[in-house]
Amino acid sequence: MPRRIIDHRERDLTARFDHLQDEITRFSDLSVSDSFDSRFTKIDEIFDDIDRRRSDVEANPDVDPLYQRYLSKVLSAEANIAELELVLTHLELYSNHRDHSRDRICHVRNICDELTDSFGLTATCLPVIRENYSLLPLLDNEYYVIYIPRGQDIIPTTPILAHEVAHAILDQRSARSDQQSARSDDFTERFGELRRQMSTARAERDFYENWDYWYDELFCDVAGFFAFGPSYVCAQLHHLLTRRPYNIIRNVRVEDEYLHPPEALRAEVVTTLADEYLPDELLESLEHVRDEYTEHLERTINSKPSFYDQWVDDQLVDAVVSDAESVNDDLDNLCQHLLNGTDYDEAPDFEYRLKANQYWLDEY
Ligand SMILES: [Zn+2]
Repeated sequence: MPRRIIDHRERDLTARFDHLQDEITRFSDLSVSDSFDSRFTKIDEIFDDIDRRRSDVEANPDVDPLYQRYLSKVLSAEANIAELELVLTHLELYSNHRDHSRDRICHVRNICDELTDSFGLTATCLPVIRENYSLLPLLDNEYYVIYIPRGQDIIPTTPILAHEVAHAILDQRSARSDQQSARSDDFTERFGELRRQMSTARAERDFYENWDYWYDELFCDVAGFFAFGPSYVCAQLHHLLTRRPYNIIRNVRVEDEYLHPPEALRAEVVTTLADEYLPDELLESLEHVRDEYTEHLERTINSKPSFYDQWVDDQLVDAVVSDAESVNDDLDNLCQHLLNGTDYDEAPDFEYRLKANQYWLDEY
């Protein structure tokens, strides 16, 4: 057995585990730290297994499968410790940012609370300031780190938070392993039909890989629209500005993690929802921003691949929309508040959504 190398790794892991257990006590004010206890118990058990398997190897030093079993336990301890170390890093960032940018962090926590209530979701979001919006599940599918951008006024982009929080809906469904039930039969059947129509195996795989991500992204856009109404359309159309709005990634590789839908498609989905669900008076206030976005799309139309219309299939898009539109039924009330000019303190459940809408409706 390569004893010195493995002894070194075991000592290293023990030290990392001790450090982790010390460090987490600094966050005992956060309820997420409770979730560490069961993880620590599990790692303790893995260390016991390591000891047992090590004795087996020492008793039979020439039996390779015993050595491999022992090694796999050591690496399993390492993976479990590394996962908790990553969580610890995020708790440190959260705590640091909470101390230094208290207003920004509090504001985002409050919006996330308003949104999780509105989605009927049990989830705690811990904001961390980064370069853009994103959601990262922490432990036990109940705690999430939510990345938020630096610097600028947070109110105009807050509708994007609804998209991120909606990712937690899908994450919790997949943790309960009913992901398939989130994707309706309408979607699955049409998806299969279109896959079979692809001209090559490569195209079929690319179509599959892209739509696997697109489904979630479009689902979250739809949920965001129903939570934030007109301000979601405004925030989204300002957010989706790239040189190639029709671009679709081909020759997908394993490392291509985020296959976002083409921006032109995302814009089409939210503006179509606006046409269908917003009262005329609110719809009119979106005209200007929509005209500008249409011009942006016209001027970048050369990014449209020949297969775009085949892949961006109406029936498939409609299926995602109908899967997602029921996650939130606040839209009518929100629109009513906007039309009535309701003040925030008269509608505390809508406070942050009213603020974001007020910003955008004043802007246009
Ligand atoms: Zn997303």
